Amino acid sequence: MTYETAPWASSAARARIADVAAGLGAPTPEGVAATVRTALSDHARRFDAEGIVLYAGTNLMSPAARAVADAPVGGRPSMGWPGEKYQSGLDHLDTLEVLTPALMARLLGARFAEVRAHSATMANLAVYTAVTEPGDTIAVLPERAGGHTSHHAVGAPGVRGLRVVDLPYDAAAYDVDVPALPEFLDREGPRLVVIGASLLLFPHRVAEIAEAVHAAGATLLYDASHMAGLVAAGRFQRPLAEGADLLTFSTYKSFGGPPGGVVATDDAELAEAVSAAVFPGLTANYDIARLAPLAVTAAEILADDGAYADACVAAAQTLAAALHAEGVTVAGADRGFTASHHVALDVADLGGGRAAMDRLAEAGVYLSAIGLPWQEPGEPDRGLRLGTQELVRRGFTHDDLRRVAALVADVLLRDAAPGPVRKSAAALRAEIARR
Ligand SMILES: *Cc1c(COP(=O)(O)O)cnc(C)c1O
Repeated sequence: MTYETAPWASSAARARIADVAAGLGAPTPEGVAATVRTALSDHARRFDAEGIVLYAGTNLMSPAARAVADAPVGGRPSMGWPGEKYQSGLDHLDTLEVLTPALMARLLGARFAEVRAHSATMANLAVYTAVTEPGDTIAVLPERAGGHTSHHAVGAPGVRGLRVVDLPYDAAAYDVDVPALPEFLDREGPRLVVIGASLLLFPHRVAEIAEAVHAAGATLLYDASHMAGLVAAGRFQRPLAEGADLLTFSTYKSFGGPPGGVVATDDAELAEAVSAAVFPGLTANYDIARLAPLAVTAAEILADDGAYADACVAAAQTLAAALHAEGVTVAGADRGFTASHHVALDVADLGGGRAAMDRLAEAGVYLSAIGLPWQEPGEPDRGLRLGTQELVRRGFTHDDLRRVAALVADVLLRDAAPGPVRKSAAALRAEIARR
C-alpha cells in the first residue's frame, strides 16, 4: 500500500514512514485486521514479555482496572452534565461521571476534580483558557529543567495565544530560583506560573513559590503529570495543600490508569472556569469508557495506603545507587539521587541522551532522553530519564533492579553487544514472570 509521507517531516521520519508503508498488506478488512494484530502482538511481546521498560511516561494498568477497560461504551457519545444530557438513555453511565471525579477529589484532598479532558495537555489548555486571555504572559520551567511542550509556546500556550517566558531556575537546587522570583514576576507580569516537570527528582518549594506568585497577583499551576501516582498517595508533596491553586496531571503515567487528564482545585471559581473550558470549550462528546478503569485505579490508590508509591521511590533509589556504583553519572548524587520514582543519568560523555537511548533500545531497555538543568542553551539533551513505576508493577525486586543497572552499564560503559544484553533482559523478565 502506498502512502504519501508527510513532506514536512524530518528525513528520519519520512524514511521510517515510507518503510512501514511499503510493508503494509492489502487494505481489505481482513488484511487490515491481520496487519493490526501482528503489530499489536509484536509490541506486546516486546513490552509485556521481553523488554525492560524504564520509560517514565507510561505504566501498566492493574488487573482490576484492565478488567473494566475496553468497553465499547467509548463509542457512545455523551454530552453535558448528568441530568441535562444532550442525548437520552445514558443515565446508567451517570454513575461513572459522578463516581470518578468524587474519588479523584477525595484522593487529591481537593474540593473539585475535572476528569473529562482526554490528556494532560488538554487539561493544561483548559487551565490556560480558564485563567488567561490571549496576549497574557505565563511563566514556565525552561525545557532543560523539564518544562513540558504543553507549557511552551510551541504547544498549548501557543494555541491560546500566550506569551511564554522561562522562570529563573537554580540548577543546583533542582528548583525555581526562589530568591530571584519576586523581581522576575514584577518585571514579566505573568498571569499564571506553571511548575511541575517532566523530570522531577526532588519536590518544588511550593509554599515559597506560591507566596511570591500570589504576592504578584498571579495564579500557580502545578503540573503533576509524572508525579500524580505519588501525589495521590500523599507522597512526594501535596501541591494544593502547599499553596498551588490548580493541579493538573496525566492519568496513565505514575498514576497507572488509562490515558487522560485531570484538573483539581479547591477554588470554586477556578473549578467552574476550568469546567467550562473543558465542556463546552474543548470537548463536546467525550470518552466515558475511560472513566471505568480510571475510577478503579483511583480506588486502588486510596486503598493501598501509599505502598505502591513508596515502592516506586525505593526502587528508584536502589536503581540510582546501583548505576552510580557501576560508574554511571547519576544526577542528584549529593542528595540521595532522587525523592521520586525518577532517576536521571548524565550521558553527555557517552554520546548524549539520544544515542544512549537508541543503544539501550537495541539491547531491550526502553527509556527516553531528556534535557538536564545544567545543559547549555541549544545543547542536545544530555540526559536519560528512567522511571520505576512499571517495573514495580511487574514485581521487580531490588535485586532485579541491580541486575537491570548492570545491563544498562554493560551497554553504556562496557560497549556490550546489544543482542546478548537483549537476551539477558528477556531471561530476567521470564524469571520474574515465573515467580
Ligand atoms: C507527559 C506530560 C504532559 C502531557 O501529558 P499528556 O497526557 O500526554 O498530554 C504534560 N505535562 C507534563 C509535565 C508531562 O510530563
